[in-house]
Amino acid sequence: MQHDYDHLIIGAGMTADAAAKAIRDADATARIGIVGEETHAPYERPPLSKALWKGDKPAESVDLGTAKSGATLHLGRRIVSLDRIAHQAIDDQGDVYRYQRLLLATGAAPRRLPFDGERVIHFRTLDDYLALRRYAVAGAAIAVVGAGFIGSELAASLASQGCKVTMLFPGAGIGAGRYPRSLSTFVDGYYRQRGVVLCPGVRVVDGRSVADGAEVALSDGTSARYDAVVAGLGVTPNGELAAAAGLAVDNGIVVDAQLRTNDPDIFAAGDVANFPCVPLGMRLRVEHENAAISMGHHAGRVMAGAHEDYTTLPFFYSDLFDLGYEAVGLLDDRFEIVEQWTEPYREGVVYYLDDGRVRGVLLWNVWGQVDPARELIAEAGPHDADSVRGRLPKLV
Ligand SMILES: Cc1cc2nc3c(=O)[nH]c(=O)nc-3n(C[C@H](O)[C@H](O)[C@H](O)COP(=O)(O)OP(=O)(O)OC[C@H]3O[C@@H](n4cnc5c(N)ncnc54)[C@H](O)[C@@H]3O)c2cc1C
Repeated sequence: MQHDYDHLIIGAGMTADAAAKAIRDADATARIGIVGEETHAPYERPPLSKALWKGDKPAESVDLGTAKSGATLHLGRRIVSLDRIAHQAIDDQGDVYRYQRLLLATGAAPRRLPFDGERVIHFRTLDDYLALRRYAVAGAAIAVVGAGFIGSELAASLASQGCKVTMLFPGAGIGAGRYPRSLSTFVDGYYRQRGVVLCPGVRVVDGRSVADGAEVALSDGTSARYDAVVAGLGVTPNGELAAAAGLAVDNGIVVDAQLRTNDPDIFAAGDVANFPCVPLGMRLRVEHENAAISMGHHAGRVMAGAHEDYTTLPFFYSDLFDLGYEAVGLLDDRFEIVEQWTEPYREGVVYYLDDGRVRGVLLWNVWGQVDPARELIAEAGPHDADSVRGRLPKLV
């Protein structure tokens, strides 16, 4: 079967949703098609590791209502090849999608453990959430592998459900490498107080499915059995389709300031895009909801005829039990770190400085300060500990 679109979007995630809505806002009659491998219409991913575990929010509440854009959704279909000369893509069932302009919003795929199994979940999708829900009953022993954003959020959510949670991770502590050491130590203690067992400094090197569970083997020579294992090991961008079609791919699909690839009719946005980040003066690829929405929106506008650069500095947010934060720019503990606590580790601002510039800001239980943080990062400086201390929060 052949489908003809003015605007074709590959991938049906948050980026695709934002792009389709932006195209529709700019062009009431455009024919928009979205092809997505998952069987669900575009949905919000962030609640999968936090809000859906609180109260009794149904899984359907994450639906983004993409249909309102009038886009035709082709779900449960994977695009397997892209012919840039013919301006067409082909899915895994042989359907052909012809396009005038194409957006690659293929996102990212979770890194995998060296073994699989029914109760081994590489957490990314709504189906992963639904699978984990089946095993995450009170008293169940769950191993969370990884102590980054996904691992730490899931560990908190699972512990709040009454699960016996063990975190296995190679680093020194939760958020190590991003949070200042003192904050990471505090967060470790916070998790332990809430019953989470932390096993830092270990890697999962092997494992296997066993009756009603999974067994994992660790780099320290020990092994343990759990009712389920959930992994948050980071992601890799889904750039294979683009690379096979001859588009530039280097830690994601390389785009210019308008989010255009090296093919003038093909754009990329969201988790898969490696874009020039104007405020930081460097190329960046991020896995942030804010980037998915703002880049998707921007790409949609440009595809529909706008000529504007994407200049947003995306931010990230996370919830850990009743702690929460927003983070702007680069969080890297190799930078000079300036901590400013109103109440130690409960409320404060952490500045990350490099070469006289503010490169990142962590707003720890401090809200409404993302734009002032962006302004500070955009300043030419030079900055040092004295000049940044007290700059935030700014009264707005
Ligand atoms: C559990 C979880 C919690 C998160 N929490 C936060 C948070 O608190 N704060 C924050 O800022 N960010 C958070 N994020 C990150 C944020 O959700 C992502 O940055 C965002 O969803 C990325 O959207 P995307 O559309 O670019 O990519 P994706 O969401 O990865 O969507 C891409 C889609 O494309 C499909 N696809 C890939 N290849 C093909 C193909 N060839 N053919 C058809 N379809 C294809 C994929 O199956 C996928 O459905 C979280 C992410 C997860 C997984």
